Amino acid sequence: MDEIRIENLKVFANHGVLQSEKKEGQYFYINAVIELPLGKAGRTDDLNDTVSYAELCEVMVKEMQAGSYDLIEAATRHLIVHILSNYKMINSITIEMRKPDAPINANFGSVSVKMSRGRHKVFIAYGSSMGYEMDGKVLESPEIIEGAVKLLSDDPEIEIIKKSSDIVTEPYGGVAKNKFYNGMLMAETFYEPEELLDCLHSVEKSFGRSREVHWGDRTLDLDIIYYDHDVIDTDRLSVPHPDMQNRDFVLEPLNEMAPGMVHPVLHMTTEQLLKIMKKCK
Ligand code: ADP
Ligand code: MG
Repeated sequence: MDEIRIENLKVFANHGVLQSEKKEGQYFYINAVIELPLGKAGRTDDLNDTVSYAELCEVMVKEMQAGSYDLIEAATRHLIVHILSNYKMINSITIEMRKPDAPINANFGSVSVKMSRGRHKVFIAYGSSMGYEMDGKVLESPEIIEGAVKLLSDDPEIEIIKKSSDIVTEPYGGVAKNKFYNGMLMAETFYEPEELLDCLHSVEKSFGRSREVHWGDRTLDLDIIYYDHDVIDTDRLSVPHPDMQNRDFVLEPLNEMAPGMVHPVLHMTTEQLLKIMKKCK
């Protein structure tokens, strides 16, 4: 992957846990490695086919000075999210932020943090089979779904690209009693997989989701179906979702938006998975 690199951008700003750091300010030094395709600009010699490093430097200075964070972790993340949100040509970015004058009672050269984030295409399945009372008003499943989509869209690290139509299905797994409203979101995110899971859990919680009965009725369920073409198997997360190929309420809406997408483990398209599932039913 091609890169633009910016080294030792010096910015005076007011980040730090101590009140004195916020008041008096200090110098921060930024290294940025920005991944984007540069081949076209190399051929055309046209600034419009790349991202101006001068502009990136100015943007980073401005964003560093616009607010005051306790942590350089937060300042770094803010820069990354701002740049990925505003420059669609950039695929990923690594920022290293040094703070040589950090208030540490020791002899040291510098302290720094380094963070990398990129764009990821994800599919998120949603489901709801119960209403939820919020501020004295009962939200029914379609309103809960609408509210969840709004919360996700408001997150600066998520962009919803498409929403499928809702489908209403009979209960699954023999525990839930109500009908389910299901569908799929296609989105772009800067979150790493487990960060995205945390974000989905917090949206579920906003609509009263508790986890007492597995496969029981729920106000809102948000599952990660695909995260790029990655295969993930941790204590908290299995992606692609391990049961997706058996669920028509996952495959139908997925087929609406990504019929040709290939499952990275089963090596079949959504269309093929759907056909097989229907045959087996
Ligand atoms: P379910 O979605 O199977 O009805 P829950 O929503 O209660 O059940 O999720 C149970 C746990 O499943 C979550 O706490 C989460 O850690 C884990 N999990 C594993 N893989 C995924 C995934 N792809 N998407 C969402 N949750 C997942
Ligand atoms: Mg779930």
